[in-house]
Amino acid sequence: MSTSLGRHLNFWLGCAKLDQRGCSHCIMFHNLRKWGKNPFVLTPGAEATWNAPANLNKPAFWNVCNSSDFFWEAADPYRADAWEVMRASPRHTFHILTRRPERIAACLPPDFFNPQSAIRNPQFDHVLIGISISTQTELAKAAPFLKAVPGPKFLAAAPLLGFLDLRTHFGGASPLPAPGAPWAAGEGSGVRGGDSSPGTRHPALSFVVAQGELGPSASPTHPIWLHHLRDQCRGLGIPFNFDGWGEWSPLLTHEAAGLEDIPNALLATDGAMQRSLHPAAIVDFIQRRAQDCPVTMLRRGADETGRALDGRVYQEYPP
Ligand code: SF4
Repeated sequence: MSTSLGRHLNFWLGCAKLDQRGCSHCIMFHNLRKWGKNPFVLTPGAEATWNAPANLNKPAFWNVCNSSDFFWEAADPYRADAWEVMRASPRHTFHILTRRPERIAACLPPDFFNPQSAIRNPQFDHVLIGISISTQTELAKAAPFLKAVPGPKFLAAAPLLGFLDLRTHFGGASPLPAPGAPWAAGEGSGVRGGDSSPGTRHPALSFVVAQGELGPSASPTHPIWLHHLRDQCRGLGIPFNFDGWGEWSPLLTHEAAGLEDIPNALLATDGAMQRSLHPAAIVDFIQRRAQDCPVTMLRRGADETGRALDGRVYQEYPP
């Protein structure tokens, strides 16, 4: 789990899967096996890794434990030292992304914030904690824990696997586009991206990042889910980032030929998929699912799908 903004800082490797959709196809297990490591057992990072922030003078973004979960129970003996590494390097920005938000409060350094004022210790202002979620159900469970963290924090819809309604948890009364709003491939939802970065800070979320799923068993991300999330961010004044489609991306209107050999599927906005290439099955799916905006998704592979949404790259950060 990570954002594309920075370097990797794996104080340790490995994780235990949770009963969450985003864990079921987690590419970390695939990667660690490829590197000859047991992904279910914690492997401490090398000394050079622990020293990397101190040895880099130029300010940088660091994705902390993106081949693990910073709040994994097995990492409890190592975490205090990791906090001190981050505290000692205020010129850098550290992003900690977790699927265990219920553990955050108990795993913060004792002086992370003042319990009376709920103001964060400035020594940790450069550390942003984020939750990784994939569905509205996961968001509903995780949001209260994230909101309870004083200071800057973020949300990663990674992988994004359905509609998310941010407003319930992060305020605002901005109108939403209807989930079935018309989508013309390559042309956007009709609500354009607007400025590259809002000029004010949202009180609860520093930024939102979305991405598609990676790995051999990845599911596709419907473009309307992305439009819906991006447009809510616009309405709420939250910077929006899109880190890429993952394994699947939509067939665009100008791509008429030469794609016959690429695996494809029809995807509806409720997540239903039709993989059969039989023309009758395709017609049947489109007719039955017309209200759910079926789109053709192509499994091009993560190296080919890219990071463009409606022809532009969203990489925004708070002012
Ligand atoms: S918590 Fe993160 S790293 Fe751990 S299994 Fe789930 S997705 Fe993978």
